[in-house]
Amino acid sequence: MSDLDDLSPASVVVAAGRPPRRPGASVNPPVEFTSTYAAPEAGVAYGRNGNAVWDAFEEALGHLEGGHARVFASGMAAISATLALVPAGGTVVTPRHAYNLTNVLLEDYREAGYEVRQVDISNTAEVVAAVEGADMVWTESPTNPMLEVADLRTIFAAAREHGALGVCDNTLSTPLLQQPLALGADVVVHSVTKYLAGHSDVVLGATVTGDHGRGPELLERLTRHRTMHGAIGGPMEVWLALRGLRTLQVRFERSCANAVELARRLEAHPGVERVRYPGTGAMVSIEVAGDAAAADAVAAGCRLWLDATSLGGVESLIERRRKYAAEAPTVPEQQLRLSVGIEDVEDLWTDLDRALRAALPG
Ligand SMILES: *Cc1c(COP(=O)(O)O)cnc(C)c1O
Repeated sequence: MSDLDDLSPASVVVAAGRPPRRPGASVNPPVEFTSTYAAPEAGVAYGRNGNAVWDAFEEALGHLEGGHARVFASGMAAISATLALVPAGGTVVTPRHAYNLTNVLLEDYREAGYEVRQVDISNTAEVVAAVEGADMVWTESPTNPMLEVADLRTIFAAAREHGALGVCDNTLSTPLLQQPLALGADVVVHSVTKYLAGHSDVVLGATVTGDHGRGPELLERLTRHRTMHGAIGGPMEVWLALRGLRTLQVRFERSCANAVELARRLEAHPGVERVRYPGTGAMVSIEVAGDAAAADAVAAGCRLWLDATSLGGVESLIERRRKYAAEAPTVPEQQLRLSVGIEDVEDLWTDLDRALRAALPG
């Protein structure tokens, strides 16, 4: 379809990025396993520069976010390309509880002479006060794993006023819940690995930029970075991500409904001291009424929930994030992060309830 602008996201996610409707044409884009192309008169000549299935995925994600997407080798590749937009020795404002490897990468930037200002992203006044003199304001909303929510519109307005680029890592919300470009962001980044691909079978990332302001220039610089750093996704992986994206709406709707119900029940559970759930999305963080060892026992005691890192797949995952040295020290030791999948909610509850009661008797 050429004009998708009047369709809702549930339709766009299915219809965008399809081959032209010609008699006999395939419904899905082809997977071209080729590193080179017979000398073209124009366009792509080499596999590092382009691929038909990238175009299809980028068209679909671009429509969902309201901009121009570029697919990268991983979420971290997209994050690296975006941080490279900061001028040498520049200043970045960033959430204290950003994705842990974003923080680790920013630590490298700090050592290389950049200024990194960590803020509580849910404290809008603190964020706005930190923007003056910054080159980039990095956001996540909600944050991972503390699930703090940011006032993106106010933060990006302040960033623009001070000439700083506004960035949102939109992995946890997906474009179904939040379209940061419409809220004033210059760049959206995704770990496609998570909800967009949705089946824990690929590692990929993406950036999305808008048409306004510095959008076209940023798109060109991000594309150049992808090429020069070779941060490209393989055609099979991108095809799988596009196949996964087709069901984003139904998967995410089910995961979110499960998360709402589980968060409500966990609030009343004797083994749970605190529930963090921002009211939307499919991530829930809980602090168990015990120590780190008790939280580990809960994760290990589940049979349906899998104790594993990552999030956003059809299967439910549970993980104690502070076991990683790179996690922020302000994340509680006894916190478990739940990535709620699409299984039957009663089965998820029964399994989690049993593991909590076994690890935290009384
Ligand atoms: C997983 C994740 C990333 C990193 O993406 P990869 O695809 O694993 O490289 C970045 N941001 C958030 C919020 C994530 O959850």
